[in-house]
Amino acid sequence: MLQAFLQGACQLIFPDNCLLCREFLNSRHQRQLCTSCQADLVFNPTPFNRQSTIGSFAFDNAWSVCLYNETAQKLLHAFKYNSKTALSKTFVPLMIDFIDRHHIPLREFDLISPVPLHPVRLRERGYNQSALLSLALSQHYAIAHTENLLIRQKVTPTQTELGAKQRWTNMSGAFKMKNSTDLRTKSVILIDDLFTTGATVNAAAEVLKNAGAARVGVLTFSITV
Ligand SMILES: [Zn+2]
Repeated sequence: MLQAFLQGACQLIFPDNCLLCREFLNSRHQRQLCTSCQADLVFNPTPFNRQSTIGSFAFDNAWSVCLYNETAQKLLHAFKYNSKTALSKTFVPLMIDFIDRHHIPLREFDLISPVPLHPVRLRERGYNQSALLSLALSQHYAIAHTENLLIRQKVTPTQTELGAKQRWTNMSGAFKMKNSTDLRTKSVILIDDLFTTGATVNAAAEVLKNAGAARVGVLTFSITV
């Protein structure tokens, strides 16, 4: 009876089935994904070096951890739109693995900040998925976390439905500084879930640079190929 009770308690804490393929999870270490689905997440093979096709980027460095393949796409969708916030426990260890393996100088940054959502989107969703990642990374690498630098002042349509040029103009003026923080001598690393054309993080980086930021880096969980 005790065993049955413990099993029941475990099933409450640890989900039974893989989030993607529904296969039974028999290990406590497999919190959301089975081994096979986890293996479908592919690390970005080279350090980031994508050039902008529209203009020059305002940020100084950008790194992306995984390729935006079908598995990453499904997971990010669940993470953003289906309240599967516990997926950060799958994403963050992959990000840390990538950062450490490629010696990404995260600790050189003074501040770590998520790309903010528009207040309306934040109310609808109840959480900012990028803030779940940035908060966990700030704790792991002991970097000061802030969500008070930027405000998203434009509700932008879903970027996936727009072409590259449209994305770029669409994001122009999307962010402003929350208050008159002087960022001179400060370096900021921005965290987002997905890098597509770079228009979103570029617009955010531009505002930080205009506020005097000495260096702006970008780290995203995923990148389109
Ligand atoms: Zn699976």
